Order: sequence, then structure tokens, then C-alpha cells
Amino acid sequence: MIIDTHTHIYLNKEHFEKDIIEGLKKDGIEKIISIGTDLDNSLKSIQLSKENPETIYATIGIHPTDIWAYKDDLRGTINQLENMLLENLAYVKWIWECWFDFHWIDKNNFEEEKSLQEEFFKAQIGLAKKYSLPIIVHTRDAKEDTLRVLQETGCKKFVLHCFSEDLDFALRALYYSSECMISFSGIVTYKSAPNVQKTAANIPLDKILVETDCPFLSPQPLRWQENIPNNTKYNLEKVFTLRQENGKKETFPEVEKQLYENAKRFFLI
Ligand SMILES: [Zn+2]
Repeated sequence: MIIDTHTHIYLNKEHFEKDIIEGLKKDGIEKIISIGTDLDNSLKSIQLSKENPETIYATIGIHPTDIWAYKDDLRGTINQLENMLLENLAYVKWIWECWFDFHWIDKNNFEEEKSLQEEFFKAQIGLAKKYSLPIIVHTRDAKEDTLRVLQETGCKKFVLHCFSEDLDFALRALYYSSECMISFSGIVTYKSAPNVQKTAANIPLDKILVETDCPFLSPQPLRWQENIPNNTKYNLEKVFTLRQENGKKETFPEVEKQLYENAKRFFLI
């Protein structure tokens, strides 16, 4: 059984939401986490969870590429997230997608955007810590700043989702916190990402999660199609193969079971 730990099925266009949800079981996808990236789709994720309480769990938060809409009212936005959390405690799986992304940043406006991202990142960590909740961290081309903020804020329970950095960074994060997890998306299946593949082949199995980040990042061999949670199996298979090639003596059922248990343990589901 598989848990897709990071989805945005409310953004899928070529697949109907209802069909996605009904089709999960045929590929052994037992549960998915629906990730909110702004106030509207955080609420949408909660709604999906209410309608499918055994299958879908929600997270809420503000994504760095969405923060401009909220930049004049950081406090008010954080308050709204907090109210949303308190009203839906049974459904929110207590994780926030917040991050640094210097890949899509406006390079002409780098310092201002960076400090805005940092402000939101720290504010959301503050909220997560207040309720002892784990956070989802996306870091892209920003590993030093990400690690610095996690250390400065003392944030220990986090997942580095859609991992796109390298083994050295993964090990530093794992040494920093025993509660750190590393989640692999379709990127792990790409030949163009040898650093990500090397990380999956080397880190301890009990630190690994898998995800699709659908509708984005379809794995090989479906690279240019719209991604759906069922494709988590390709990422899982690739993680297994990479570890075999690296001499690990793990069977496929062992890897599948451990990753399933990792997700249950981390998300408390
Ligand atoms: Zn995402």
C-alpha cells in the first residue's frame, strides 16, 4: 500500500477529481495528502478531507509564489490560517507548505522577495510550533537559507518535500533533526537529476517518503502527461531500484511497507 504524501488534485485539469479519488485503490494508493497553497485551496483541501475522511488529509498554508497577494497583511493572513486550523482540527493534518524558492524568484527584485519569503516562512513555522505541528518545506536553489531558518527557529519536525537538492544537504538536515524526512517526487526518476537519485540510494530507508506533487512532475515514463496520485508507484519503484543498484539488501515489499509506515508515523494518520 502507498501513501502519496503531496498532491494538489484540485489543480488537475485532464482528470476529474471524482475519478481520481475513485481510481486510487486500483494502484494501491490508500491515502493522499492534499496540500493547500493559499487560503482558498487550503479550505478546498479541508473540504476534500471532510468528504473523504479515510482517504484524504488536508494541510493548509501559503506558498511562497502566492505570498504577494497577502504581503500587506501578514498578521491577518496568519490569523486566518489559525482560525481555519482551529475550526477544522479533525481534518487538517497539521502541516504547512512553506518554503524558500529562489528558482522562480524575480531576479531584479531578489532581496525584497527573499525577505518576504523569509517573513512568511518564519511566521508559518511560528504557527506550526504553537500547535506542535510538522511543516512541509520546499526548498529550491535555496538550501543554505532554508537550513538557516530551520535552525534559527528551532523547527525540528519537517519534511523536505519534492527533494531537488543533493546528498550533502540531505545529510546535514538529517543530522540537524532526527524528525526530518526527505520526500521524493517524479524528479527521482529523471536522468537529469543524479544528485537526487544519489540521495535516494543512500539515506536511511526510515527517512524516506514518496509523493507526486500532482498535477506537476510526472515521472518517467509518463513525463509529459498530467500527473495523478496513482503515479506514486513509479517513484517508489525507482527509489527501490536505485537502492538495489547501490547494494542495499532490501526487497521491494520491505521498501513499500517501510515507506507506508514512514508516512503514517510522520503525518499521524
Ligand atoms: Zn506542492
